[in-house]
Amino acid sequence: KHSESIKKSFQDGLYQADLERALKYSLIQEISLTDEFTNDKLQALTIYLEVLANYFPLRKGNSEFLIRLHEIVANETSLTGEIFKNIVTKLQQELSPVFMEHREWTGCKGSAPRFRGFPCGLWTLFHTLTVSYAKDVGDEANPSGVESPSIILGAMYGYIKNFFGCSDCASHFVDMANRRNYSAVMIPDDAILWLWEAHNEVNQRLSSDYTEDPVYPKIQYPSWKHCNTCRHGNTSWNLQEVLHYLKNKYSRIILSNQPVL
Ligand code: FAD
Repeated sequence: KHSESIKKSFQDGLYQADLERALKYSLIQEISLTDEFTNDKLQALTIYLEVLANYFPLRKGNSEFLIRLHEIVANETSLTGEIFKNIVTKLQQELSPVFMEHREWTGCKGSAPRFRGFPCGLWTLFHTLTVSYAKDVGDEANPSGVESPSIILGAMYGYIKNFFGCSDCASHFVDMANRRNYSAVMIPDDAILWLWEAHNEVNQRLSSDYTEDPVYPKIQYPSWKHCNTCRHGNTSWNLQEVLHYLKNKYSRIILSNQPVL
């Protein structure tokens, strides 16, 4: 049964290309647009980079890029977007090649350029971080020696609030995250499910919206086709199976830049 679910999670694929594009875009196109970093923004950036340094699956053997970037920023007391961009560019040149060469979105490619792309990549990145964290620390509540699971959700909250280019989306997300009490999540698997549920709430709100790519309609995820054990009939979720599916999907990274059909 489980090897079947692994096969299906490949069709609903997670691509290294998308993770890296989302990361690069967030550093260069979003964070770097900040004029002056207030204390709040600097703190949000430091936490985002810490979480990336610890849990982002950077290939090319180059986790050093994120570790060094985090160290540099953690020691800054004031920063501008321009300076941050220079730091990123310099490190990238020094440690080259940091990223795989991909010019296009793969799993996040829309049917037209205005659809999908970066917002899809950003969701994907944060789902991957929740799973990568849980795999790293196991099932312990309040694992010792590492930060609590809410650091991942907190990093996302801080990123969206301070840097996400779509300000309406950001204020919706911040309200929802507060309502859903993201900072109280204490168990790694619960952080995975928290983000899954929150994302489904956004999917529900945006279903049939003009922003929806007609080829990729917003669904309550995962689809029955990809996980037929994830639902108890039509009425409720089987959370164990959903968790299992999410852990498979968000840890089995496809390196090819051709979608698996
Ligand atoms: P996305 O919703 O971007 O999902 C990306 C991929 O994640 C999917 O292809 C699927 O593989 C997987 N996935 C889908 N649902 C789940 C789930 N529940 N759990 C785990 N994985 C899942 N747009 C607006 O117009 N208004 C908003 O208010 C808004 N708020 C946003 C808030 C945030 C934090 C983010 C990151 C984006 C927001 N967006 C908003 C953009 C919107 O949510 C979509 O990202 C965008 O419309 C592209 O949709 P998509 O079809 O590529 O799928």
